[in-house]
Amino acid sequence: MRKYILSEGEIPKRWFNILPLLPEPLDPPLDPETKEPVSPDKLAVIFPEPLIEQEVSDKEWIDIPEEVLEVYSLWRPTPLHRAKNLEEFLQTPAKIFFKNESVSPPGSHKPNTAVAQAYYNKISGVKRLTTETGAGQWGSALSFATQFFGLECRVYMVRVSYNQKPYRRILMETWGGEVIPSPSPNTNAGRKFYDQDPEHPGSLGIAISEAIEEAATRDDTKYSLGSVLNHVLLHQTVIGLEAKKQMEMAGFYPDVIIGAVGGGSNFAGLSLPFLADKLRGDKPDLKVLAVEPTACPTLTQGEYRYDFGDTVGLTPLIKMYTLGHDFVPPPIHAGGLRYHGDAPIVCKLYDLGYISAVAYKQTEVFEAALTFARTEGIVPAPESAHAIKAAIDEALRCKETGEEKVILFNLSGHGYFDLSAYDKFMRGELED
Ligand SMILES: *Cc1c(COP(=O)(O)O)cnc(C)c1O
Repeated sequence: MRKYILSEGEIPKRWFNILPLLPEPLDPPLDPETKEPVSPDKLAVIFPEPLIEQEVSDKEWIDIPEEVLEVYSLWRPTPLHRAKNLEEFLQTPAKIFFKNESVSPPGSHKPNTAVAQAYYNKISGVKRLTTETGAGQWGSALSFATQFFGLECRVYMVRVSYNQKPYRRILMETWGGEVIPSPSPNTNAGRKFYDQDPEHPGSLGIAISEAIEEAATRDDTKYSLGSVLNHVLLHQTVIGLEAKKQMEMAGFYPDVIIGAVGGGSNFAGLSLPFLADKLRGDKPDLKVLAVEPTACPTLTQGEYRYDFGDTVGLTPLIKMYTLGHDFVPPPIHAGGLRYHGDAPIVCKLYDLGYISAVAYKQTEVFEAALTFARTEGIVPAPESAHAIKAAIDEALRCKETGEEKVILFNLSGHGYFDLSAYDKFMRGELED
């Protein structure tokens, strides 16, 4: 079989929470001024109560609300594919599987949490959500999600992307989102830059500051984040829970699980339900591999310490692997992987040795993307292509050793809005 399909009734009814299973508790977020753990009421200014509860929950399973399941059913369960053409092309004895999160309407895994966050804000009486977006993946997922719950959505989009990548902006507006090029004159944080230069190119750091400031200064508005936080990883576990059932249908348990890591949410979403087996001692040999760009090598080169979550220094201090909050990665095409830190859950498991990591250069990643497009037919997002590159390398190692390993990776999204990057690569204009 090439494809393992679950019925609509088999969408997971509960999210899996790894927190109670961690060998040691996470280090709490700290208030930068007092260096004391942040009090929940400070977080309540920008996040609704149910999400703050999920952030620190010690319950292993959390029910998915009916209203969220209903929206999930527009594209979930997603298929699990066996990449047989790729296996044949590589002439590997390895078996390669991938979970296809590119089939959601916004084209990535991100709506798994966007829908949940929109729902919890709605039932908490929130009327508007703000967020930031770089290339537009997260902004489009949140615009998509908020419309189902009658919430307004305002997206601060880094001005260079706003000007250079109009298609994701149009997508956001099609779903009713309001897209503001950042820096904007709407906020104190934005005005500082906007007044100097109304065509200021902006940065993700400035856009985050604008979105948070607006949420903190308006009673009807909260802020929404697309990765890194515990509750985001929690919502993404629907990926791994489905994949576990589908791997059972296929009759295999993976030896290697692979995901690209920006903030860590799609990687964790696929791997955490399997990692639970490793933490319980049932699957001691399971290899879980995080893949990052050499241009932003957070796990492979960063330090494990407290740092700000944003560039400007507005957020609490978070214990994570970090390249420093003022690290500015070169402008690579996998925009979703340019974060200076990583999710605290992923960092803890990496620090304790349950996860390994590898970094790849941009051109070798696009090479893998083309191989995948030409064997399996799907054009992958440049982010997802990092996982594909690692899966190919793993399969080629099996070819040398003769091992019949079972490899599972996450296809976190499609690349149909990234064709100009493909164009550059095929013309030989892409650099490392
Ligand atoms: C945003 C994004 C990523 C990176 O974010 P994570 O939180 O690490 O998953 C990866 N792939 C795609 C397609 C994305 O849109």
